[in-house]
Amino acid sequence: MHEPVGLFITGTGTGVGKTAITAALAAAFRRKGLSVGVMKPVATGCKMGARINPGTPRQLISEDAARLRRAAGSEDPMDLVCPYRFEPPVAPWVAGMGARINPGTLRLDRIEQAFQSLAARHDLMLVEGIGGLLVPLNERHTVADLARRLNLPLLVVGRAGLGTINHTLLTLESARSRGLEVAGVVLNGRSSRPSLAERTNPRVIQKLGGTQVFGIVPRVSSPTPERIAPYLKTNALLKQIRSRPERRQVRRRRLSRLDRSRLWHPFTQMADWEKEEPLVAESGEGVTLTDTRGNRYLDGVSSLWVNLHGHNHPALTRAVREQAGKLAHSTLLGASNVPAIELADELLRIAPKNLSRVFYSDSGSTAVEIALKMAFQYWQQNGAPRRKKFVHFVNAYHGDTIGSVSVGGIELFHKVYGPLLFKGFKVPAEESLKTFKKTLKAHHREIAAVVVEPLMQGASGMITQPPGWLKTVERLCRRHGLFLIADEVAVGFGRTGKMFACEWEKVQPDFLCLAKGITGGTLPLAATLTTEKVYRGFLGPYKSLRTFFHGHSYTGNPLACAVALENLRLFRREKVLAALQPKIRLFQKELARFRELRHVRDVRQKGLMAGIELAPYAWEDRIGIRVCQELRARGILLRPLGNVIVLMPPLSITPEQIRFLCRETFEAIKKVTANV
Ligand SMILES: *Cc1c(COP(=O)(O)O)cnc(C)c1O
Repeated sequence: MHEPVGLFITGTGTGVGKTAITAALAAAFRRKGLSVGVMKPVATGCKMGARINPGTPRQLISEDAARLRRAAGSEDPMDLVCPYRFEPPVAPWVAGMGARINPGTLRLDRIEQAFQSLAARHDLMLVEGIGGLLVPLNERHTVADLARRLNLPLLVVGRAGLGTINHTLLTLESARSRGLEVAGVVLNGRSSRPSLAERTNPRVIQKLGGTQVFGIVPRVSSPTPERIAPYLKTNALLKQIRSRPERRQVRRRRLSRLDRSRLWHPFTQMADWEKEEPLVAESGEGVTLTDTRGNRYLDGVSSLWVNLHGHNHPALTRAVREQAGKLAHSTLLGASNVPAIELADELLRIAPKNLSRVFYSDSGSTAVEIALKMAFQYWQQNGAPRRKKFVHFVNAYHGDTIGSVSVGGIELFHKVYGPLLFKGFKVPAEESLKTFKKTLKAHHREIAAVVVEPLMQGASGMITQPPGWLKTVERLCRRHGLFLIADEVAVGFGRTGKMFACEWEKVQPDFLCLAKGITGGTLPLAATLTTEKVYRGFLGPYKSLRTFFHGHSYTGNPLACAVALENLRLFRREKVLAALQPKIRLFQKELARFRELRHVRDVRQKGLMAGIELAPYAWEDRIGIRVCQELRARGILLRPLGNVIVLMPPLSITPEQIRFLCRETFEAIKKVTANV
């Protein structure tokens, strides 16, 4: 659908002759009868041109862009060929730092729009980058991000001679680690009597870089397209770039077939799934996910409630890469590792002050499971062995392992497993907490702990609790000497507008269960935080068997801990919680409109979490799913909970995107419910 044909030409550095090579390719392809579109999206070192008419402003002129246009024989307007032209001869973002002029914020969307309108007019596109891949374009994006956005494979231009191998391999590695596809390499500026290095470089690059060299161009005094083109393997290159859309289509079909014949998806009726074309996500940036067809979607549920700062956030991606270069995994059983230690300290700094120990695992379910086992075992070995039961709430969700399902309360998911589960006290989460109080009064001597989702029960349909409710639960736990387990797997890490939901009511749980957002939505990790009192209850001589006998192969995984640390740094560095407040107010305002819809029964919201409950259609009617299907066609990805449409975008969503998300959801609900 959006499969562009062409190349993004980048260099191993500045001044390697990208423009000469691009112009030569444009001329060569044009001679083959193709209509070639060229772009030099960002040009620096531009000169002020003459006034064309009195009264019209003078324009900055990019020599390079003009050269490309001539080579391609293009008549495209300069504002499309070169939408950003700057006078200072440095990277645009750096020029802004020079502050003499403000170049304004460079927007990738604007370049992309120009690109698309040119791509629609031509057989293929040649886009010349600026400098190398890591040249900053604005605060957040580099040339590599632009290349990814345009979805073109790279042609890397390097300088023939000494140092080529190093520079070229660095560029190739950097490109691939940023998810870019490399079409090949061209080496430019070979001397007339090639040195040993110049003669061997192409072979070495081909071998170590795992890519093809599409030409070795000699150094010439006037590098016109005519002089250069004969040294380029234009036929081979053209064949490769023209066959790419078809190659991608073949791959897409194969993936679709394999998905349906090999995978088993979670919480999915596979009989339905097999009938439909799967959406296969391939890349992401910010709140946007891109599938293998090139379709883009706003990730309206943060990839199932995990993503916070957007996809492919440069800082998070870098944290993963850097840690991967050191150590991907080693065990916490009998050894420790650097990120696991540092993260524990950081987590305790931001958690309620009574918590002092961190136990890692890898999912929300295990974080809860661990809290249950710790609470249980604590009483077994600390003088209250009768305390074996847990109090939990109707409509609670704490995960899918047998222990966490045992304290869950969603009939639809959990009924079939009934015989496998241990029994506790399931009480309604009523406003008065009447049953809860009664249960505690009558049974507190048998109760180990109370498990709760603070502020909002997520998976049962975003059911909110009235103010003061959580505080009352805490007070009653204290009165009866019970542990309070706060499952903040969904509500933690800023979702409700504070770092942790417990902060709203200054609640200090004995166990805090964290997962989902802990790594900013990048890698699986979970943590169960607890108090010194609980921790001390497990100390003793080895033979006392007070050890906590629990651990997973990947407990404290260094990669996950490293990226979790960076997630916490991002909260501080980008002042995420402060930036969130106006967005929450806007979200609230936008959501208020939904009450106008006849088939909307309730709208519930906390921070950037919301549930829009539709009329009680029979669940078999799958109205929620149909609304989400409608939204998919509108470029939004959601996952409903029965008749509740869940909106839970990444915290990094912009006000503009909040409006888009709410407007389209409103229209989709209106459309789908009009006919039922
Ligand atoms: C998602 C969730 C869990 C389970 O987490 P997983 O990582 O999916 O195992 C537990 N509790 C709450 C409140 C959740 O939202």
